[in-house]
Amino acid sequence: MARRPTLSPSKLSCYLACPHRYYWTYESGQGQWFLKTRSYYAFGLSLHRALEAFHATGETGLPSTETLLAAFDEKWIDAGYASADEMQAAYGEGKEILERFAESASGAASHGKVLHVEKSLRKEMGEWDLIGRADRIDEVEDTIMVIDYKSGRTQVTPADVAEDIAMGCYALMTRDLYPGRPIAATLYALRSGEEATHRFEDAELDEIAFAVRELGDRVRTHYWEEFHPRPKGLCASCEFAVLCRRDPEYASQLPQVS
Ligand code: SF4
Repeated sequence: MARRPTLSPSKLSCYLACPHRYYWTYESGQGQWFLKTRSYYAFGLSLHRALEAFHATGETGLPSTETLLAAFDEKWIDAGYASADEMQAAYGEGKEILERFAESASGAASHGKVLHVEKSLRKEMGEWDLIGRADRIDEVEDTIMVIDYKSGRTQVTPADVAEDIAMGCYALMTRDLYPGRPIAATLYALRSGEEATHRFEDAELDEIAFAVRELGDRVRTHYWEEFHPRPKGLCASCEFAVLCRRDPEYASQLPQVS
């Protein structure tokens, strides 16, 4: 049987931010190669692989600091850094982040019950499936809370959670896992330890389901052949700007420097 097409919250968020960014990241082999030479890619992947390695052990409880740090050592990728010093600084920061991850997870366990760590989620959305992996799902009194750890952010607010399409997707998929239970989502900024929660009402999740399905259909049917990038605010900090600047239409819309 043919595998059903899938889209993840990361892919949908990427497309919303800039369709061309989605193209470079997920459709073009050129963009993937380009990304792999960037240090932040290697850094994020090292963190992710450390968590995955913990998951692959089949342990069901929360990760201990020692387990995570050992996995981080084993999975560390040293490619893409400008110098050995820069690599060492990133390595130290990664260890701090994972230590905080383990601490926060055990701290949270004292006011709720941890149901899942690194939990794969899936929801049918018509012709495609929404898939994702929740960092953690807790039960706090009667509420099921899906938690997402962010390594690149220091500040988070409840409005950030409510407006974040990825968090809406995670809440949606978690509702299917625990039908009839109140659903909340929490963003946890690993660098600062700050966290924010939003409780999703049923009607809100129904609206999110409708919007996500429409968006996913649009992503899947996007015709890339004659699609040109357009300059926007995000370009200033986008790692793909050098690729987009090769497009004559894009280049002609950039402000001219005299
Ligand atoms: S440089 Fe701008 S247009 Fe190109 S992918 Fe990045 S954000 Fe999109």
